[in-house]
Amino acid sequence: MTYEVLARKWRPTTFAAMAGQDHVLRALINALAGDRLHHAYLFTGTRGVGKTTVARILARCLNCETGITPEPCGVCTSCREISEGRFVDLIEVDAASRSRVEETRELLENVQYAPTRGRFKVYLIDEVHMLSGASFNALLKTLEEPPPHVKFLLATTDPKKLPVTVLSRCLQFHLKNLTPDRIVRHLEMVLGEEKISAEAEALWALARAADGSMRDALSLTDQAIAFGDGQLQADEVARMLGTIDQGALERILESLAAGDGEALLACCGDLAEHAADFPAVLRELMAVLHRIAVVQAVPAAAPAGASVGDQVGALVVAMAGRLTPEDIQLYYQIALTGQRDLPFAPDPRSGFEMTLLRMLAFRPQQPGSDQRPARVEASAPAQGAGSAAATPEVAAPRPEPARSATVTPQPESGLRGTNGHSQPLPEEPDSINVKPEAPPNAVPAATGPAPVAVEPPVLGAPQHWHDVIRRLELTGLTAELVNHCLPESVEDGRVRLLLDPAAEPLHADVHVGRLEAALSALLGRPLKVEIRVAASADETPAQQAARRRAERQRLAEQAIESDVNVRTLIETFNASVQRESIRPLG
Ligand SMILES: [Zn+2]
Repeated sequence: MTYEVLARKWRPTTFAAMAGQDHVLRALINALAGDRLHHAYLFTGTRGVGKTTVARILARCLNCETGITPEPCGVCTSCREISEGRFVDLIEVDAASRSRVEETRELLENVQYAPTRGRFKVYLIDEVHMLSGASFNALLKTLEEPPPHVKFLLATTDPKKLPVTVLSRCLQFHLKNLTPDRIVRHLEMVLGEEKISAEAEALWALARAADGSMRDALSLTDQAIAFGDGQLQADEVARMLGTIDQGALERILESLAAGDGEALLACCGDLAEHAADFPAVLRELMAVLHRIAVVQAVPAAAPAGASVGDQVGALVVAMAGRLTPEDIQLYYQIALTGQRDLPFAPDPRSGFEMTLLRMLAFRPQQPGSDQRPARVEASAPAQGAGSAAATPEVAAPRPEPARSATVTPQPESGLRGTNGHSQPLPEEPDSINVKPEAPPNAVPAATGPAPVAVEPPVLGAPQHWHDVIRRLELTGLTAELVNHCLPESVEDGRVRLLLDPAAEPLHADVHVGRLEAALSALLGRPLKVEIRVAASADETPAQQAARRRAERQRLAEQAIESDVNVRTLIETFNASVQRESIRPLG
């Protein structure tokens, strides 16, 4: 028995089995159910999104022996012959291979004769834009006065190449590219039926590589099954696709966010050890930076592309909260010039390393961190030292963000700023530090600084959650997940947490597992963690941090605007305050 490729084996034969394209299917189903049929349909969309599949299903709907129906029976002779591609009244033509006018004429010659067996004679012309001008004229004649027993189903990837006269006589449906999320769900269904085990991240990698095309996704899956000897593992699939392990991207972004040059270089070392394709890694880094920027600008964009199991989506959401939009823009710009200059670097690895180090070196000083880590300072001079990859666009260090506002006087004057004149903001008490190390009702440790046991009532109380989180010492995405959670209840060794719906993409089994392990270790007994996605009346630690940041920013802006010197500058020189340059102190 020969292996049947997945795309053919799982080609849908009913509208209900189609993945996506709901808008098109609904219109067709309504038309079929209400018997409002057009004589010519045009399906447009990129390759592999289901144009000819929809057309073939429509041909069945029109010719099923049970009558015109949106749900063809699938068992009558017509239905079966159409699936097997041998129905005499379904004339399929690939215009890409048959564009000459005499062939089209020959094809259309028989149009006036009644169908042999079916209700309708259905002409399915794929890649119809490839027909020659004269062929279009022949087709147009038939479209102008179509016999009642004829239906035209045209499909094309390039409707702009069709003459307007043809376009205007067709009912047009545009099939959309499928989202990675939709493709993953379909692959899960297919592989489940095929009894092939697959890691979620492997499916996401395939879905992203398919670029919106279900057919490509299925044929890549075929290749991956052959490559992985019958199963789909994330690292194998990444190797096949030439993409990099998503964990590496996560570590790079983590290191950048933490300003940790050592970890960054270690990451480059690991990549080199695995013979990574550095230009490709840089491209993927840029793709992730782009997604982060989108999520930062339009938070609602997050769930569409990112859902449970999509590690990159979770990473994007987490990093969107940890890095500022300015950081992301800067990193992207540096990556872009880094990519351009990569061919001039002594070797791809050093070009890639220089690009990452430049991101570290030029990252604006973060409010609250007085000093960049010393190791980063040390790497900065190396960057300028005659590197072929150095670029003028980004080589000029960005001005340090003002610790007070920059005031731009309208007329030229020597005054550039008010450094030193702004009022320092009152230090905000750090609520975490003033909390007692052990909650009041905790069991006191018997001797010395043994781990302090925290009892369930404390764990369940939102006000002590900060303290618990701090002691869990989680890192990375797991820490991010916990910061978006609040305890709901604790009973019988089950810790129930509420997860802020905005952070749902962070919800992954791997993080829940890490959290369970950390909580069990902290409390000294086995605990199960259950996470429910629902908004809470109380603030999550992440929400609280965001609110405090906004509050401090507002106070800083108020302080600048009420500053006597600033007011004088504004009144005397017609100056204006650049609000975006205001940063809270400390
Ligand atoms: Zn049938």
